[in-house]
Amino acid sequence: MTTDTADVPPIGPQLQADLHTLYKQLHAAPELSMQEQATAALITQRMGALGYDTFGCGGTGVVATLENGAGPVVGFRADIDALPVAEDTGLDYASSARGTLPDGSDVPVMHACGHDTHITSAIGAATLLAEQRHTWSGTVVFLFQPGEETAEGAAAMVADGLWDKAPHPEVVFGQHVWPGRAGQVEVTSGPAMAMADSWRVTVQGRGGHGSQPHNTIDPVLIAAHMVVRLQSVISREVPAQQPAVVTVASFHAGLKENIIPSEAVFTVNVRTLDPRVRERLLGALRRVLLAEAQASGAPEPTIEELYTFPLMHNDPAATTALTAALREVLGQDDVLEVPARMGSEDFGHLPGAIGVPGVYWFFGGLPAEVVDGDDPVPSNHSPHFAPVIEPTLTVGVTAAWTALMSRLGTGR
Ligand SMILES: [Zn+2]
Ligand SMILES: [Zn+2]
Repeated sequence: MTTDTADVPPIGPQLQADLHTLYKQLHAAPELSMQEQATAALITQRMGALGYDTFGCGGTGVVATLENGAGPVVGFRADIDALPVAEDTGLDYASSARGTLPDGSDVPVMHACGHDTHITSAIGAATLLAEQRHTWSGTVVFLFQPGEETAEGAAAMVADGLWDKAPHPEVVFGQHVWPGRAGQVEVTSGPAMAMADSWRVTVQGRGGHGSQPHNTIDPVLIAAHMVVRLQSVISREVPAQQPAVVTVASFHAGLKENIIPSEAVFTVNVRTLDPRVRERLLGALRRVLLAEAQASGAPEPTIEELYTFPLMHNDPAATTALTAALREVLGQDDVLEVPARMGSEDFGHLPGAIGVPGVYWFFGGLPAEVVDGDDPVPSNHSPHFAPVIEPTLTVGVTAAWTALMSRLGTGR
């Protein structure tokens, strides 16, 4: 028998105020992927003070374990990194932090994906579990993961021996804030988030004077043809019933209007939900890139694979059980079952590395009037993404606590 989760988590006014302060502190001091030193130190200090055993893992990751007698081992993951975005929310706790990207460029940094709400929610749930040890039994393992945005952190933790050092959970949970209604949670069973592949394409041409294009091979024109033709692969080669997205979001070439440059560089981001569709789509994209270069008499373009996100698959049985548990606590209407998203996550590596189920859900962060209004809603990664603190954090803590309690043993 498991613990009765119909009880709501006992978040008192003191804990709530403490979590608000923690959230603002994290929001004002974001750190780029795999550079989350101060964030990791803060997490280690907080979790240690609660009585958790902690160790660093995967660079700036932190694992925090609390053993509380015999019983199931349950895992919860929170990602901790921020993005190179200049915050423009106008919040009084807005970030003015800066950071250095791996290429050496100095950039503004913002918790534009809301991972600060994930850290705060996890610490909130961890606090409740530490304070209420008589209400459960077993072991909880919190995984504070660095570098989600660059698809590095989960793999880095696994490669650093995460599962040699930490107890193996029977299930790992995780969650993400998103621009839905604050107070609501969204769950998807089965494939829940897309595989993503990113490439950097370098088109080689032959530079020269803008007045004499016949003496050059113009990489700008070739790359422009490539970008347009890549989209036609989606409409002509992917079955209409299969979700797939191709995005070219960066494109760089040339310095001056009358100098034809010798190369053009752009990136391609590809998202799919079915491994067979992925394989076919990537093959077709590669074919188009090579053929367009050949059509213009240019050398073969260079295609660098930047990173790959795995499919995020929510174990159906664990998802059904979690949905029922969340509905008991949050209410039937505030736990929605929704289709898969085309966003991506590296969360799946963590349970996947030991072959246990994972379940990952979304919680809303915006007021209903903003979500339902006529203006475009600021999404994750926007400089305007500003989750409301409540009820966002209370629901984040409640969902995390409920998921863990639904799998832990009864009280002692
Ligand atoms: Zn995120
Ligand atoms: Zn993100």
